[in-house]
Amino acid sequence: MRPTYEPVIGLEIHAELITNSKMFCGCSADYASAPEPNTNICPVCTGLPGALPVANRKAIELAALVGLALNCSVNKHNTFARKNYYYPDLPKGYQISQYELPICENGWLEVNPSPLTPLPKREGNNSLPPEGEGRGMRVRVRRVHIEEDTAKLFHEKNYALVDFNRAGVPLLEIVSEPDMRSAEAALDYATKVRAILRYLGVNSGDMEKGVLRFEANVSVRPVGSDELRTRTEIKNLNSFRALTRAIAYEIERQIQIYESGGAVVQETLGWDDVRGVTTSQRSKEEAHDYRYFPEPDLPPLQLSDEWIESIRTRLPELPEAKTARFISDFGLAPSEARFLTSERTLADYFERVAAKAKSPAKTVHSWIAGEFMRYLNDSGLSIDDVTLAPETLAKLIDMVTDKTIGASAGKTVLTELFKNGGDPAQIVKEKNLLQLTDVNAIQEIVTKILNDNPKEVDEYNAGKEALFQWFMGQVARATKGKADPNVAKELMVKGLEERKK
Ligand code: ADP
Ligand code: MG
Ligand code: ZN
Repeated sequence: MRPTYEPVIGLEIHAELITNSKMFCGCSADYASAPEPNTNICPVCTGLPGALPVANRKAIELAALVGLALNCSVNKHNTFARKNYYYPDLPKGYQISQYELPICENGWLEVNPSPLTPLPKREGNNSLPPEGEGRGMRVRVRRVHIEEDTAKLFHEKNYALVDFNRAGVPLLEIVSEPDMRSAEAALDYATKVRAILRYLGVNSGDMEKGVLRFEANVSVRPVGSDELRTRTEIKNLNSFRALTRAIAYEIERQIQIYESGGAVVQETLGWDDVRGVTTSQRSKEEAHDYRYFPEPDLPPLQLSDEWIESIRTRLPELPEAKTARFISDFGLAPSEARFLTSERTLADYFERVAAKAKSPAKTVHSWIAGEFMRYLNDSGLSIDDVTLAPETLAKLIDMVTDKTIGASAGKTVLTELFKNGGDPAQIVKEKNLLQLTDVNAIQEIVTKILNDNPKEVDEYNAGKEALFQWFMGQVARATKGKADPNVAKELMVKGLEERKK
């Protein structure tokens, strides 16, 4: 019988840090704004002989901040190392990185794996912290270390061009333990790391721009075993979609290999997004021997307890804590809270609307998660582009809640506010959107519809219940959608009942 296999996944995440200058020189780190290739460079970041690196203080602060946000401990003594390999995008012939003593180690992040996948078994001798109250599982963060980004290569027909503008930009590597047991768990972990980086303001999370890149290490083993089998490493996954597709593909590929009696080969793979397959890049035999050694041109970093604590005070409320607070303070469901806290700006916006609105927070959530997001998505806007004042949205939501206008009129007003701004009450007046709540007026309309359509009334009363929606449609037509739907429905049910023979 075919054993059931369990995936084992570890992620390495590379994130550029948002600083003014590069990691080891004074060149601008904002390479995307450089007017032309190779204008944002100096002897240090182009690896000229004799040039000496100086570590970027801001980058070190941000690296520690990320480590603390990921529940790591900060190493008061940590060191830089040379990772030696030759590639045309690496002008020095080595990358300055951290090896034996990274700035941060031993953290964790809680993730919500898919309910369909088993939780990882906890081994007796590891330091996996206790799981949160049934909410998820913890993925251990092995290390967070500082390094530098490479130059960019442009492959032309029979030559390549190199642009050093990006060379030396501060880069953070965040390495997890192999604690994830499904592509969904890996996706959740990656999503959460990205959200934290954005909350901290250290990385934009713009994967299309390459400022955040994932590498997935994947192996599979029979369920119940706790061995770590041979893994493959999939490089340069530049979207969440690529990450999950590549992992899912690789899991299945490895299961097939074991099932046909073969052995998985340790190798580095690429992901072909068009064909939807992983492709071999190099095997273990061809793997680099990086010949790491301590970087002689940079002193070890000596960080004091006071310094570490001062960085800790800069931690904002993080997504997980905000989610818990939104659930308890606003009475939101976990999924609702999680949606709102996925972006700090979205969470802030929600809180500002909720503070101004008289409507329940749940209603504010429905508007923001519904019509508001729909408009943004349809117009290709992000929450950061929104100029609509939270007070104004609060006013609009209240007008729907207190039945001044109907829900569909509310959508019309929202679109108008997004497009041209203005005051909700004024727009309602101009567009004549006031909701018809007068029971007598609605009764008149309902009675007329019933009198005008005796055939449909008989059919309905003979059992064709689907006609009810048709009757409601007639009300909407007669009132231009302005009748209070609950009142109209009640009167319609009553009217049909009265006409039963
Ligand atoms: P290396 O030092 O060669 O990069 P590591 O052991 O440090 O290898 O692991 C790198 C990444 O691979 C980490 O994210 C780790 O969690 C993951 N990993 C290690 N072993 C396995 C395995 N057997 N299956 C899946 N992932 C693994
Ligand atoms: Mg690796
Ligand atoms: Zn430079």
